Amino acid sequence: MGTPKILILGAGYGGLLTTLQLQKKLNYNEAEITLVNKHNYHYITTWLHEPAAGTAPADHARVSLDGILNKDKVNFVKGTVQAIQSEEQTVTLDNGEVLPYDYLVIGLGSEPETFGIEGLKEHAFSIRSINAVRNIREHIEYMFSKFKNEPDRMDYLTFVVGGAGFTGIEFCGELGDRLPELCREFDVDPELVKVYCIEAAPTALPGFDPELIQYAINVLERKGIVFKIGTPIKQCTPDGVLLNTGEEIKSKTVIWAAGVRGNSIVEKAGFEVMRGRVKVDEYLRAPGHENVFVVGDCALIFNEEGRPYPPTAQIAVQEGETLGENLAALIRGDLPQKFIPHLQGTLASLGKGEGIGQVGSKKLFGSTAAMMKKASDLRYLYKIGGVGLALKKVKL
Ligand code: FAD
Ligand code: NAD
Repeated sequence: MGTPKILILGAGYGGLLTTLQLQKKLNYNEAEITLVNKHNYHYITTWLHEPAAGTAPADHARVSLDGILNKDKVNFVKGTVQAIQSEEQTVTLDNGEVLPYDYLVIGLGSEPETFGIEGLKEHAFSIRSINAVRNIREHIEYMFSKFKNEPDRMDYLTFVVGGAGFTGIEFCGELGDRLPELCREFDVDPELVKVYCIEAAPTALPGFDPELIQYAINVLERKGIVFKIGTPIKQCTPDGVLLNTGEEIKSKTVIWAAGVRGNSIVEKAGFEVMRGRVKVDEYLRAPGHENVFVVGDCALIFNEEGRPYPPTAQIAVQEGETLGENLAALIRGDLPQKFIPHLQGTLASLGKGEGIGQVGSKKLFGSTAAMMKKASDLRYLYKIGGVGLALKKVKL
């Protein structure tokens, strides 16, 4: 066998960290490392609720791959993966290019989970990429300008967020900060603007600490967000949403934040999946495929009680780092290590200067949680791009 070919799909948290670890561990001639990504930038998915609401520019969440990849060690291919042929050990891009591999790393992230609910794919927005959030921001602004021309259309000023999980809650925090600005800019009475956060479960942030949930709800209600809890959305139409209570909310802006599933390319390639995610073994390998590894939101791992870990950036980063080391070990004929996640806690923002968090048994509220989140962001930026990137991107 010649120089082994490692092909990494996706430059998100999982794929990028695998690549950076390989770049660090391997010498120039030990492997041919290729990273394929739709764009020539990595995006900080965990910040996307900000540009979606318009409280930060989209560019802020973009990190140029040029600045962090070592071109002598990694071939970067800007392209969109269309299909994986595991039998042939190849990957096809949408321009027809076929890339062969000896080792494959799948880090293609997630897609919105619609649970088959009618109309969501066609009529709802979701917070999933730089391009998607630009669209949301512009659409919200457009709704204000349309209202100024048709002042009886209250549906233009009604915003629906589907799901009060962490994505829905973080987005509501930002929207709550942004709407007063838009009201000033467009001379709109703030009393006319309505934001509904609609949750199917009997509580917002199901499974999280009740005291922290209550804190989050209080902060968001003060920003004008109206919660409808225990009321699943059952249909989305061009005119709004229908709840299972029979209530209809008329709105031209529905943001679907009710969960994710693994990228559909993985299921289409014939890997066995649950909600689009591959149940990987302790070495992050796809079952039955010695040389195919899966990281991030495409991978499913379980805790000791057999419960699935939620898909998070925190786990994706750790998976990428372990996998990078393991691939370097495999190539050198050394033994790989098992992947064991080390959860550092949860930190969520609730808009400017506000947040909630749980780190070990410690609960964090308000500005302390917001500061801790910034510190955690800073650590991540430092990890991928050193001091330069951290200083350039962090907002104090
Ligand atoms: P991603 O980071 O989504 O990266 C996937 C990459 O693959 C992207 O670069 C994409 O462009 C590329 N790609 C996709 N399809 C193709 C294709 N066909 N061809 C080529 N390239 C492709 N988690 C936390 O731990 N903490 C948080 O605070 C947190 N906040 C969040 C806030 C928001 C608003 C959202 C939406 C999520 C948040 N998460 C958070 C979850 C976290 O962002 C994800 O779990 C994480 O991004 C998963 O990483 P990944 O590498 O699997 O995928
Ligand atoms: P999620 O699955 O965590 O939450 C989705 C919410 O939508 C749930 O509360 C669910 O009950 C609700 N829902 C489902 N169907 C519904 C319906 N028909 N109508 C109304 N509500 C419905 O999804 P998410 O918030 O998009 O998060 C995805 C992943 O990213 C999770 O693992 C999450 O932990 C992670 N994340 C973490 C952070 C953070 O740590 N700060 C922030 C965002 C996301």
